Amino acid sequence: MVRTPSASLTYDVPMGKRDSKPPYVVRPPTAVLTRGFDPRLSVGSARPAVFRSSTYVFSSPEAAERAFSVALGRARPDAGESVDLIYSRLSHPNAEILEDQIVPLEPGATSAAVFNSGMAAISTTFLTFCAPGSHFIYSTPVYGGTQHLIHQLLEPLGIKGIGVPAHATDELIQTIRDTPELGLVFLETPANPTLAMCDIAACARAVAARAERPLLAVDNTFLGPSFQHPLEFGVDLVLYSATKFLAGHSDMLGGVVLGRDAELLASLRGTRAVLGNILQPDECWILDSRLPTVDLRMVRQSKNAQRIAESLAGHAQIEQFFYPTLLEDPEQIRIRDAQCTAPGSIFAFELKGGKPAAFDFLRRLTIARNAVSLGGVETLACHPASTTHSELSPEELRASGIGPGLVRVSVGVEHYRDLLDDFRAALDALES
Ligand SMILES: *Cc1c(COP(=O)(O)O)cnc(C)c1O
Repeated sequence: MVRTPSASLTYDVPMGKRDSKPPYVVRPPTAVLTRGFDPRLSVGSARPAVFRSSTYVFSSPEAAERAFSVALGRARPDAGESVDLIYSRLSHPNAEILEDQIVPLEPGATSAAVFNSGMAAISTTFLTFCAPGSHFIYSTPVYGGTQHLIHQLLEPLGIKGIGVPAHATDELIQTIRDTPELGLVFLETPANPTLAMCDIAACARAVAARAERPLLAVDNTFLGPSFQHPLEFGVDLVLYSATKFLAGHSDMLGGVVLGRDAELLASLRGTRAVLGNILQPDECWILDSRLPTVDLRMVRQSKNAQRIAESLAGHAQIEQFFYPTLLEDPEQIRIRDAQCTAPGSIFAFELKGGKPAAFDFLRRLTIARNAVSLGGVETLACHPASTTHSELSPEELRASGIGPGLVRVSVGVEHYRDLLDDFRAALDALES
């Protein structure tokens, strides 16, 4: 894990459309604090204000007509044109500020769209780019909500999903090559909860080699935006549950899609306006305030997790440990080194004592809390087989490497020695 961290990449920063200064170039940690927000439009406030209005007063009837033409896709805004806002289900100032400010965090992105949850971002992407009768490919295991969306909503609509194991690169490439009417390839990497990795670059090449090119999307919630940059490998859309690392405090829901092609994001905003799943002004404001610390938190959490994982891995009660620096498969190690700059803060381990040992372990923790979700500043632990992955069949659980004694941990920003003591004490107690 020796590649340059994202914070040192230079990034071209075109100023937001409401700004008068010329384009200039700064690095992401600077850009996230300087672009996309003009204090003069918020009575000089140094940080964005919250605009809770549901509707916006037009500057003239002509401006209203123009705003509707642009919103409904009958016209495109001219370069530098400031189109009037209409109604906050379509967009609102806090969404526009957030969408401008989050772009520099994702290398290669030029445009973003914000949603009221990660699932809203994911379902809007499928519903926008997958036609009834068409196919999509997805990596497995996939987030439980996404799995539910695929089986309970998309398949009954005649949108057919083909699941391929995340680590099976050859099978992914072949399926991408051979599937007719393929609209979308959706990867989640590393996979939840075993951190199996997909070869993003290989999938991007397979997608580009098709005569009719499907879109390639990556759910980058686990390692992005700090440690994995899918757009640099030729991916079209990067999706986030902003509920996790982006917001980082387990106190709000949100979702984001970012991409290089602004037209794709405009299509997503069009579907969003109909579904009504835009992120609300207060949540946009909260998420906006968390962006400057995403990298600080993720780096600290990843360092904590790496120290803890590598110290615990040999414990007598642990059968198998899942963490990017502890991989043994040479192919998985190659993928890791090619596309990740740090191991991240999620690990999982299978306890020899099965489900009773896992429950006992969770009951004994005193710092880490027994909860689902991840990416917050506080450490959380859960038992996937009985909670987040309880919808999987016994065969699916086996195929996904989720055993009865598996515990998943999301490491926070506490002092790692305290966490290590907590985990060790709970593990040692299992022996007696
Ligand atoms: C949590 C999560 C989601 C869903 O996000 P919500 O904000 O809970 O809707 C999707 N993908 C991954 C990888 C997640 O961890």
